[in-house]
Amino acid sequence: MLDSNRNDETTTWVCRLLDWYETSKRAMPWRDQPDPYRVWVAEVMLQQTQVKTVIPYFERFIERFPSPSHLAEACLDQVLKYWEGLGYYSRARYLYQAAHRIMTQHEGVLPSDYDALLALPGIGPYTAAAVASIAFFAPYPTIDGNAFRVFARLFACEDDIARPKSRRRFESLAKAYLPTDRPGDFNQAIMELGAVICRPQNPKCSICPLNSTCYAYALGKETVLPVNSKKRVAPLHHLSAMVIESDGSVLLRRRDEGLLNGFWAFPLFEVTDAEAVTFALLNTYGVKVDRVRYLGRYQHAFSHQRWDVSVFAGRWCRGFPRESGEFRWVTKEAFEALPLAIALKPIARWAGLLPKNTIG
Ligand code: SF4
Repeated sequence: MLDSNRNDETTTWVCRLLDWYETSKRAMPWRDQPDPYRVWVAEVMLQQTQVKTVIPYFERFIERFPSPSHLAEACLDQVLKYWEGLGYYSRARYLYQAAHRIMTQHEGVLPSDYDALLALPGIGPYTAAAVASIAFFAPYPTIDGNAFRVFARLFACEDDIARPKSRRRFESLAKAYLPTDRPGDFNQAIMELGAVICRPQNPKCSICPLNSTCYAYALGKETVLPVNSKKRVAPLHHLSAMVIESDGSVLLRRRDEGLLNGFWAFPLFEVTDAEAVTFALLNTYGVKVDRVRYLGRYQHAFSHQRWDVSVFAGRWCRGFPRESGEFRWVTKEAFEALPLAIALKPIARWAGLLPKNTIG
């Protein structure tokens, strides 16, 4: 593996990388105007989500919430509505909480200091480094999956990227080469290279600007690196949902636990048949339904778990939950205005609450 000590020969790859980035970078709305708030929102949206998916969400979000104060003044339901379909909704909740913190502790302005950024809700080392380097030119490297892959290949590093100490090693490698005058460009160039050239499968080595100094390419190891011992299959959970109907309305519950926390949702239980879900509904919330019918079954994959959901509908007979979270009867018209996670949209379509061709 290449030593990380800087010298003229090895640092030319940084110049080639930055030149390539300058001429080849994809247009992105946050790159045109890299003010701290826009960079922060973009970086949060880009976590676990592809650029082409993020762009329309980013534009709509920034138009509606153009500053931390606009975001803090909104209600959480509005924020979630603008996030609807983007997934990983805890990101939106943290963004919202952080906007409040920025208003109360930082006079409405995103702090430029790395540690102050890190102290905000939902901002981890990666996002703090991205905002600090791109918006404030601070010398912090961003190490994500793309950076792991590019550095592992560039230096033929066989460290297992699943191990915490590997992160420190890659971080010190990146720091050794980070140009102090263009840290944000360097970080973005590594991300860009990892996204479009040094891809997980089929890296485009023949047209890569770094191929003449890439050790993995020279050794024919570009498709076996990086080493990752933690590629695991997300566990599958079998659930049942009940659409509770009464006089043209359905009963929804605002979730206050686990996945989709904060979203209005149909009652969901970890059971697999009509009898069990009917019993769970009565036992947990005191709600009795009859005329239960089966609507369908679907699967949805989150990053760390998969759901296999059987969907039932039933007529409300009696009981109204009082203590377990917030419940609400919702008409079809009101339903369309509520934020609804993509993971729940098949239920809404089958229950006739959304058009059959709704995306997601
Ligand atoms: Fe990645 Fe190939 Fe470029 Fe090396 S030469 S950095 S493996 S794309």
